[in-house]
Amino acid sequence: MDSVLIIGAGGAGSVVAKKCAMNPDVFKKIHLASRTLSKCEAIARECKSTVTTSQVDADDTQQVIKLIEKVKPDLLINMALPYQDLTIMDACLATGVHYMDTANYEPKDEAKFSYKWQWPYHDKFKEKGIMGVLGCGFDPGMSNIYCAYAQNQLFDEIHTIDIVDCNAGDHGHAFATNFNPEINIREVTQRGKYWKDGQWIEIDPLSIACMVDYPEVGPKKSYLIYHEEEESLVKNIRGLKQIRFWMTFSDNYIKHLDVLQNVGMTRIDPVIYNGVEIIPLQFLKALLPEPSSLAENYTGKTSIGCIFEGTKGGKPVKKFIYNVCDHAKTNTELGAQAVSYTTGVPAVTGAMMMFKGIWKGAGVFNVEQLPPEPFMEEVAKQGLPWHVKDLDAKTEAELKGAKELKAA
Ligand code: NDP
Repeated sequence: MDSVLIIGAGGAGSVVAKKCAMNPDVFKKIHLASRTLSKCEAIARECKSTVTTSQVDADDTQQVIKLIEKVKPDLLINMALPYQDLTIMDACLATGVHYMDTANYEPKDEAKFSYKWQWPYHDKFKEKGIMGVLGCGFDPGMSNIYCAYAQNQLFDEIHTIDIVDCNAGDHGHAFATNFNPEINIREVTQRGKYWKDGQWIEIDPLSIACMVDYPEVGPKKSYLIYHEEEESLVKNIRGLKQIRFWMTFSDNYIKHLDVLQNVGMTRIDPVIYNGVEIIPLQFLKALLPEPSSLAENYTGKTSIGCIFEGTKGGKPVKKFIYNVCDHAKTNTELGAQAVSYTTGVPAVTGAMMMFKGIWKGAGVFNVEQLPPEPFMEEVAKQGLPWHVKDLDAKTEAELKGAKELKAA
């Protein structure tokens, strides 16, 4: 394998293209395609080795098939939006090309964050003898791989997982989202959910919060939201009793989101304006800064990881695996902010694992089903070093005072 096709020239897609181009020994041919050709061309000009480009509408399977036939890649990395996952997977099936993405399929008219559409492709991919790797960004992605590594190397049994995600950066805008605004706002405004003792417990959006002590950042208020990797991790981590996902949002972000929601700007159903059908959230996206435009002058760090409790050798053990990433440093290296960087680098590392034959198999896989150790070694070299911290199993030192905000 030596040829990669990347679809999507946004914040995260640009990181994938640039990082592939920094590893020309592995990625000998790189092609970048997206809806807007000029964005692909601008990224290609900044790449350290040759990147060819095309225009494609990935909502149309036939266009993707034609592109694959022209480029003849071994692997297609889907860095467009979750809406395109199935059309692109269908094109990979038709042409016998391996597939990878960083976010699960979303129907446009329903915010679901579920693998129920992509998992059924397993048998079709298996019959065709191709591999589909789902959710290979940071979270999902690195977070799942930290869990697989903890299961293999650090624990006999993992009982609880808290995935904790903090962006303590400042981009200087009154309101902006760090990845695609439509997907970000759909994710945050949906009902929350976590898994405990074999069942999903639903909560009102942003109704539970706690203080999490993030490495190199310090204590930050974090909200319990539902995140897609929980669905696969409950299947793939043995003996798990609870999994939750926490994310920081500043008071300023929540204030803007509240207003936007109250006036109907986050709706995803069509409304008629001047005789034309528009989706309010899509219109809002057109007004907000693009994630790729935030990198310049972005200060601060992301600090993301997984806190595990379980047992090893019959004794209770608590550990924290995490990465800290600095917006200014990722901007200097690749002209990208840290959220795009932490999404793109795991995708490139996963692609390297496939190109080197370390991750292999026919069918559709979540990343925790694939060997974590070689990935962990490589991802540190590619720019996302990770650390394991021992925590006191008897205290709740890193997660303080989880409580119902409404009851407080
Ligand atoms: P952006 O909005 O910056 O980029 C999306 C890109 O996809 C744009 O270049 C856009 O084109 C292109 N695109 C959209 N629709 C089509 C289409 N029909 N055909 C071809 N190209 C299309 O988003 P991000 O880079 O921030 O996010 C990219 C993906 O990464 C998303 O799926 C997001 O959910 C995922 N993500 C995953 C994370 C993780 O940790 N797992 C974290 C952050 C993001 P145009 O420029 O013309 O609009």
